[in-house]
This record gives sequence, C-alpha cells and structure tokens, in this order.
Amino acid sequence: MHTKLVAVATVVAFVGGCCTANRQNLSSSAKAAPAHKASQEKPGYTDTPMLPAGKWHVHDPNRTVPAVVPPGKTFSDGAAAPADAIVLFNGKDLSMWKGEKGAPQWKVEDGYMQVVPKTGYLTTKDSFGDFQLHLEFREPEKVVGDSQDRGNSGVFMHGIYEIQVLDCYNNPTYPDGQTGAIYGQTPPMANPCRKPGQWETYDIIFEGPRFDENHKASQPARVTVILNGEVVQNHQVILGPTNHRVLAKYTGKEPERGPIALQDHGNPVRYRNIWIREIHPQEQP
Ligand code: MG
Repeated sequence: MHTKLVAVATVVAFVGGCCTANRQNLSSSAKAAPAHKASQEKPGYTDTPMLPAGKWHVHDPNRTVPAVVPPGKTFSDGAAAPADAIVLFNGKDLSMWKGEKGAPQWKVEDGYMQVVPKTGYLTTKDSFGDFQLHLEFREPEKVVGDSQDRGNSGVFMHGIYEIQVLDCYNNPTYPDGQTGAIYGQTPPMANPCRKPGQWETYDIIFEGPRFDENHKASQPARVTVILNGEVVQNHQVILGPTNHRVLAKYTGKEPERGPIALQDHGNPVRYRNIWIREIHPQEQP
C-alpha cells in the first residue's frame, strides 16, 4: 500500500512539471523545468515569480479553481464567416498556414486539421492587428496523460500571447494553465469544458499592445474570450508574451501586428472552422 502511494505521488509531481512553452524553447523548457515537490497534491509551482498583485506565483497550485459551469448545447458551433472575414481554415487545406520548417505537416481530413506531434506549430502566413477570431477545437477522445500533458495545445495571438487549449474535463491542473486561461497569468472565470471528443468553440476579441516612441508599452494588449458561450476573459490585460514558469512582461520589441499560431504540444488536438476579422478602434465621441 505504502509503495503504491509513493508511486502516485511521483506521478503527480511529474505531470505538474509539464508545460506550455513557446516554439523556440518547447523542448528545452520542458527538460529544464523542475517538478514541484512530490508531497504537493495539486499540480503547479510555488518556486516561480510572483504575479504583479503579489498574491500568487506563476502557475500557483493554490489559486481558486474556476467553477465548472457546463455550457449550453451549442453557441457559435459551425458559425459561418461574415463577409469581411478572412477564412484561415475551411476544412480542406492548410494554404493559409506555414509550418516551422516549411510546409505545415498537420493532418487534414473530414473538415478538420489535427496536430501531428513533433511537426511543430502552425502559423498563419498573414499578420493581424486587433481582431475577432472564431475557431473550434476538439480534445482527443482517448484520454491520455494528466494535467498539462492531457490534450495540450494553444492559440497564440500575434504568435506570442497564448490562450490555453487543454482537456480540462475532470483534469486538475494549475488554474492559470486551464483552457481559457491567459497562460501563466489569468485563469478563466469559469470552466465550461466539454467532454473530450466533443467540439468546443472559442470566440476571441483581441486588442494588441500599443508602444510609445521609447518602445514602452503605453497600452498593454487586452483580450476577451468566450469559450463554449461563456465569457472566461473580459477585456483582460495581457502582461506580455506568455511562457512557462515566466512572469510575462513587454520588452518593447513586440510587434503591433502578428500572426495566429496554433501549438503543437505533442497531443493530437483538432481544429476546424477558423476565421478572423480585423477590427479598428472607433472614433471617440
Ligand atoms: Mg498550450
């Protein structure tokens, strides 16, 4: 019995150590990240930098876990693109995307694209400023792994700010790494995740950062995220480019326009019906 308990504790420690990292250092950060203490029951870290409010560490396991709020049957599932939208994926080909080493290697069939592990991120050929993005994703029906190792992918705005994609149906993980989180920063306001194997919707409204002549972020990026019909981020400030175990902050070198990127985190997550509309600030009254 005692041996079994020790084995479970070790597994928990391991799964807590998995990450969401940017494409430059996915493998290195995964190797470098130390697992949290085996005695800790919840996945997460307490040896990471403090977030600006001074209350929680990045990936703090003790943050309030967002309430599970089962979504309605449908919301924007299958939403047709408005006339001025750019269709990024119509279910047929990856012509709007590029891979890390040339042509994208993800699988396309039956109207969806699927991560082929270790082939790298997919990035749009086009760049965008502020935008409204619709996409649908599906977690693998066959449940494999725990915490950050279960159905991990992500939607990167401007290629550097991640809204997490994870199988968060009965899968404890650190709150700022849940689906709907601004990764490593702000947990979602609710957990409306469907069972793995069911399609889910993201509607994301993103306002990019603005920089002054000294390359200082005079206005941080902000994001509103609706997941399966529930607002999980509301015009939330983004502290800077997201990464694993890192306190996000702007360097001033971030672009004012950038691509959308989808993460290969080694899990066969699917995407379909992806379209985007650039939006522009209104004239102030
Ligand atoms: Mg991710």
